[in-house]
Amino acid sequence: MTVLIIAEHQHQELSPATLNAVTAACQLGDVDILVAGEEVTNVVQQAREITGVKRVLQAEAAHYAHALAEELTPLVLSLAADYDYIVAAATAAGKNVMPRIAALLDCAQISDVTQIVDQHTFVHPIYAGNAFQTVKNLGGKLVLTIRTTAFDAAPAQGGNADVMIVATTPAQQLSRFISRELTQSERPELTEARVVVSGGRGLGSAEQFNAVLLPLAEQLQAAVGASRAAVDAGYAPNDYQVGQTGKIVAPQLYIAVAISGAIQHLAGMKDSQTIVAINKDPDAPIFNVADYGLVADLNTAIPQLVAELQKIAH
Ligand SMILES: Cc1cc2nc3c(=O)[nH]c(=O)nc-3n(C[C@H](O)[C@H](O)[C@H](O)COP(=O)(O)OP(=O)(O)OC[C@H]3O[C@@H](n4cnc5c(N)ncnc54)[C@H](O)[C@@H]3O)c2cc1C
Repeated sequence: MTVLIIAEHQHQELSPATLNAVTAACQLGDVDILVAGEEVTNVVQQAREITGVKRVLQAEAAHYAHALAEELTPLVLSLAADYDYIVAAATAAGKNVMPRIAALLDCAQISDVTQIVDQHTFVHPIYAGNAFQTVKNLGGKLVLTIRTTAFDAAPAQGGNADVMIVATTPAQQLSRFISRELTQSERPELTEARVVVSGGRGLGSAEQFNAVLLPLAEQLQAAVGASRAAVDAGYAPNDYQVGQTGKIVAPQLYIAVAISGAIQHLAGMKDSQTIVAINKDPDAPIFNVADYGLVADLNTAIPQLVAELQKIAH
């Protein structure tokens, strides 16, 4: 069986999500990676060093620069005949391009794969992660997106894949890149962080959210997340949102502060290795998934916790 992974990258850097997709793909067959973009030599080099990758397909053209689905799809279609599976990480980028590829290949897509049972059978979440469905493909090509938190990252070094330059496809000009706004933060990226400190509506205001949570995040070198209620109330920016309609995270430690534990929030964090919940309501559903629960007012508990952590640090 042969697999083509669509690499996700920011021109110079391969996205870590691609490494998780490689681990999943290696369970299916021989793995090639497509690196499409403009001036992607560094990314190609990184891709060929990943353990488990057989070949890197390099496609360079100005119209691939922003990974627009309308431009990448014809390229993938031009290569698809050689592959049984087309795979990408289930990130915003992967979710953007893969349905278009599946539709134009007229084949099935299985989204957010969390387990590969065998070469035709896959497990993925449904109903916002409240149930897991096992689906079997009865034949033909498959398009898969991989839930990155369900598969370890493949070793970034150790491989020595061949590089093959592939023919580019003409610009489609169906869509146009206008601009990209990236949040600049010195904190780790939410989906890659070892520790995540998340705040909910109980924080009460943006000022309070920052004043209470940031010192804790600072001490733990954690990424900051938020519930949708906190984001909707303007306490935290949109890209902090964890959950069904936000980001899926599975850090070693997830600290939920004043988050009630709605199913849509749990869908984004319940695979975390250790969950700590701090909430003043002893009946809050978040305590059902928490490994450690503290029934307390955040305004006293968090400053105390920060003070204790500072003592340890010194
Ligand atoms: C289609 C759909 C998609 C959704 N997607 C998401 C999603 O991706 N992510 C998400 O998070 N939600 C999502 N939601 C919303 C979700 O249903 C909940 O409304 C939301 O998660 C609630 O956020 P919260 O826990 O911060 O607020 P609340 O439910 O209001 O809980 C606030 C908590 O703070 C506690 N609290 C208050 N004051 C203090 C204090 N001083 N000290 C300690 N504790 C305190 C309270 O006891 C309470 O438990 C979605 C909903 C729908 C319908």
